[in-house]
Amino acid sequence: MSEVTPKPAVSVLDAATAREGSLEAPTRHPLDWKNPEFHDPAAIDKELERVFDICHGCRRCVSLCQAFPTLFDLVDESSTMEVDGVAKSDYAKVVEQCYLCDLCYQTKCPYVPPHAWNVDFPHLMLRAKAAAHKRGGATFGSKVLSSTTAVGKLATLPVVVHAVNALNRSPGARKLLENTLGVHRDARVPPFERPTARKRLKHLPQDGAAQAAGRTRGKVALFATCYCNVSAPRVVEDLAAVLRHNGIVTTLVAREVCCGMPKLELGDLDAVANYKEHNVPVLAAAIRDGWDITAAIPSSVTAPLVIIRSSKPAGSR
Ligand code: SF4
Ligand code: SF4
Repeated sequence: MSEVTPKPAVSVLDAATAREGSLEAPTRHPLDWKNPEFHDPAAIDKELERVFDICHGCRRCVSLCQAFPTLFDLVDESSTMEVDGVAKSDYAKVVEQCYLCDLCYQTKCPYVPPHAWNVDFPHLMLRAKAAAHKRGGATFGSKVLSSTTAVGKLATLPVVVHAVNALNRSPGARKLLENTLGVHRDARVPPFERPTARKRLKHLPQDGAAQAAGRTRGKVALFATCYCNVSAPRVVEDLAAVLRHNGIVTTLVAREVCCGMPKLELGDLDAVANYKEHNVPVLAAAIRDGWDITAAIPSSVTAPLVIIRSSKPAGSR
């Protein structure tokens, strides 16, 4: 089922009989992102208005992130104090505050599918981001900062790594970084480390006999993730050490590129799909070889792979 065409609004009687969710896993419909209507601005505005109106009447997610307070402030400060008083050009202010954590969908919303109101707030935000990206692309800074695999490779080269870290500690260079890439001069910028996690764990001994336990098979392949690989390699080393200490045979996945999460947050779905084509065959081969997969950063192995799927229903959480 496509998410492009929303379910029709339900009548009062339907609403009274529609069961609210949250006790059962919601149904996540795949994004029909290759359908031209997916990027249609008028259709998106219509769906945003429909869902914003439901959220305005509910307000349950106000404390989860800045997207909801932004929406409710826009409503409360409008002439009608309803969603119809909010300028459509302001919808983007809500969209840009969503970082696709999925918390509202997974933990709060009683109106997620199969409820007839069909509210999937993160998917709608992603659709709006994708359409905006299709229309205007991304800023130079966003493009660079979201290219984590390339930036990580470059910044961890010998000599370069020391230069980059020194520049990131220099107030003058930070002003330049703010002016060119939009990184606030006081924002914490993690240092790059060398050797990377993947180099440190390259020769991880795959010794010991795997002992299956429940649904797990006693063998784990680690997806290092861009951030941990180049900025927090000790996290991956520690994770491997804990797994091995507990008798779990541990290795790294054979190859990896960015999971795509930074590009997903930009709405650059083509880039996410491209990353997926690189990562999924490697992960699938590891699974076929008897390895379970995990990563030091959960979103790196879940969100993009789940959200980008377009061919069949994603099923339950
Ligand atoms: S998915 Fe977006 S809107 Fe929902 S809680 Fe996370 S950041 Fe907020
Ligand atoms: S996402 Fe659902 S729970 Fe959250 S404010 Fe909107 S309708 Fe309410």
